[in-house]
Amino acid sequence: MTATITPRDETAAVTTNGYRYDRVVETAGRIVRARVLRARYYNESLAVAEVLTEHLTWTRIADDDPVNWWHSTRTPSPRVDPAAVLGPVADQLLRRAATILAPVSTTPTLSPHVLDAVGALVATTYRYDGEQRITPDDMAWATTHGGRLHVIEHDDGSVTFTKAHRDQCPFITSSATQDCDGECDVEDPADAQRRLGR
Ligand SMILES: [Zn+2]
Repeated sequence: MTATITPRDETAAVTTNGYRYDRVVETAGRIVRARVLRARYYNESLAVAEVLTEHLTWTRIADDDPVNWWHSTRTPSPRVDPAAVLGPVADQLLRRAATILAPVSTTPTLSPHVLDAVGALVATTYRYDGEQRITPDDMAWATTHGGRLHVIEHDDGSVTFTKAHRDQCPFITSSATQDCDGECDVEDPADAQRRLGR
């Protein structure tokens, strides 16, 4: 995933001892700034990316050692354009910061293909205009009976929805390229009822 970086502000300055370029951007809902200082001396130069915290303080999240860019940037002089020279250094820092701050995807979104398959599941289970409201109770019952839901997209475009296998079944782990090993004993709820009734 490519993180989106929206520019917010930039400043540049030239002094007798060096020149600097700062850029503020927004990414992943956070405000991040890159500060790049090209000093006359290598060890006085710096390039850092900082994120604005909820307490409105800046916390460093990435830096770029001057060894990577100091030698290829111009010696300080009044004729230097800081944005032109140091912009690429800021660019790279901000791209790294955006990658670091990019949200971890925890909720996989359903592909249009899988949604089409759900539509077909409803249509073939009920009717072409089928409608079914699934309640939290229905879902609680389903998660405690049968196997966990697995959705397998096959190479030929078909999709299997199944609660008939355990997670470690070869059918599941191989995405249906191998057969079930016959050890999936998903209990019939009616049998469970009888067993508990004894
Ligand atoms: Zn199985």
